[in-house]
Amino acid sequence: MKSSNSGYTVRCIICDTVNDERVTSTYCTNCGGVLTVDYKEAREEIQYPLKNIIPDPLKTDFTSLKKLERLSELYEADLYAKLELENPTGCFKDRGSYIEVLKALELGADAICLASTGNMAASVAAYACYFKIPCFVFVPEQTPDAKLAQSTIYDATIIRIKGDFRTCELLCREFAKSGNYYLAGDYVFRQEGQKSFSYELIEQGAMDYDYIFVPIGAGTNFAAIYKGLVELKAAGRIDTIPSFVAVQPEQSSPVVEGIFKKEKIIKDQVNTMADAVAVADPFDFYKVLEGINETNGHAFTATENELLSSMKEMTVEEGIFTEPACAIPLACFKNNLDIFKGKKCLFVLTGTGLKAAHIVAKYSLSSPILSPKLERIQQYIESGFPDMQKNSWGQSRDLYSGNVTLDENHEKLYTEYVNGINKKGKTLREAEIKALKSMVSATDADLEFPVEIVDYKITMRKHGLVAAAVKMKINDGEEVVSLEQGVGPMDAVLAAMKAETDSFLALQILNHEVEILSPDTDSLVIVTLTLEKEGHEFTAKGASPDTIEALIQAFVNGLAIANKALAV
Ligand SMILES: *Cc1c(COP(=O)(O)O)cnc(C)c1O
Ligand SMILES: [Zn+2]
Repeated sequence: MKSSNSGYTVRCIICDTVNDERVTSTYCTNCGGVLTVDYKEAREEIQYPLKNIIPDPLKTDFTSLKKLERLSELYEADLYAKLELENPTGCFKDRGSYIEVLKALELGADAICLASTGNMAASVAAYACYFKIPCFVFVPEQTPDAKLAQSTIYDATIIRIKGDFRTCELLCREFAKSGNYYLAGDYVFRQEGQKSFSYELIEQGAMDYDYIFVPIGAGTNFAAIYKGLVELKAAGRIDTIPSFVAVQPEQSSPVVEGIFKKEKIIKDQVNTMADAVAVADPFDFYKVLEGINETNGHAFTATENELLSSMKEMTVEEGIFTEPACAIPLACFKNNLDIFKGKKCLFVLTGTGLKAAHIVAKYSLSSPILSPKLERIQQYIESGFPDMQKNSWGQSRDLYSGNVTLDENHEKLYTEYVNGINKKGKTLREAEIKALKSMVSATDADLEFPVEIVDYKITMRKHGLVAAAVKMKINDGEEVVSLEQGVGPMDAVLAAMKAETDSFLALQILNHEVEILSPDTDSLVIVTLTLEKEGHEFTAKGASPDTIEALIQAFVNGLAIANKALAV
């Protein structure tokens, strides 16, 4: 690879060791800490850690800075939004991918690789494609194709791995070392690209914000915006830096918790509808902590419910449809009006709502199919359903039908669920009751079940493998025990069930989703499976305090649903 540049150094923020960028752009070789770029001199214009800078070929203009007129009036504050969703792939990450890809080219890499299922993959793929360097995207097996649409059309090579996201990350890191490949991600050069946010902002008006709200996942975007402002201040272009407000979903808030504890927190698992910020191990935590401390900032969280209603409010009042992650600033602002009333606040709206169509579908009632007759349409409009559909949004994170009364058959089904859950020594909370009722009301109450699961057992094996033994009865026949292995307990149990049921009804599992209704340990878990057979898709759900049992229920329900649907 080519020689290192002058004009800047790559330093570890923990031990101050200067690292050689030809050796690492990820972790400090001395202590494993996170790196930052120090420039030898302060300059008025933006500096990048590159020998030659080619103007961004995909981004032709600044992202808009918009005054939020109606919300400002409503909440008696001076509110602005920077529309980062206007970036080429619909997300701010393009600012960083642009510099990462140029850096990979400068270092003479043969390809770029990364592990991501979302916005990062789409963005790196777009720039790698334009600059004609191969791009490898590592994703877990369950990733739906729709999520990979952008990476696919930008010609990335999709590496679909049997296993979860963590497996992909580790494997991708190994892959990067196995060749002359540049590992992209939330690393030091991405931050240098993303700081262009601040240089744009200063061109768009006075930097007299009291607060800048940034939704946080790994913390890299926050760190980049802050670094941009620090550099602008060092160059004399601004006198003061606004206070930063770090915001996260309550159900995925290791950074906010860490700020209060003043040390990095790593979660086992996080779960929020704002999947762009669902990061359990926040890479740039210490940079965020510094930004908060140095600017007398704040850190807040908002509930899933609050995200839903703020997302809707921003769309309806200001016409801006964002991802759920971008609803966190408004939600946290509203939760803390005592601090923010009368202040000039900037919300960083990180990504477009067009990528979150599945969230809208999930939290709204779908529209019935009408016969093509004008009077039927008239009747429908007057039926009250369209109003209920609009009003149901964001009332509760559980479907509106959670409030409806169940008919006799569904009531029976519901009682069976509750009895099963009570047997496990758990009582249901208000929100869980609603979610369960809504799930049951959407279930066909007279299904015939082709299999009955009698018992199951899970054993851990070497190398992360898990063995599952599932005892079941098929079509009221003899009990059989099916043994299979998998990369995790869910995978193993599914494999064991399928090994028996595939012989009479082979369902392909397109996707599984695990929803934990509250962050504590005995929360109710709802598993949703998307299944496919001969071009027909089926959705099936199961609920239990135990994830595996919810999965088993969902799969058995899926068999019954598919059986019935395919029989007619
Ligand atoms: C990645 C992402 C974030 C979080 O940014 P971090 O740099 O990981 O903190 C927020 N919003 C959207 C839309 C994202 O894609
Ligand atoms: Zn170090």
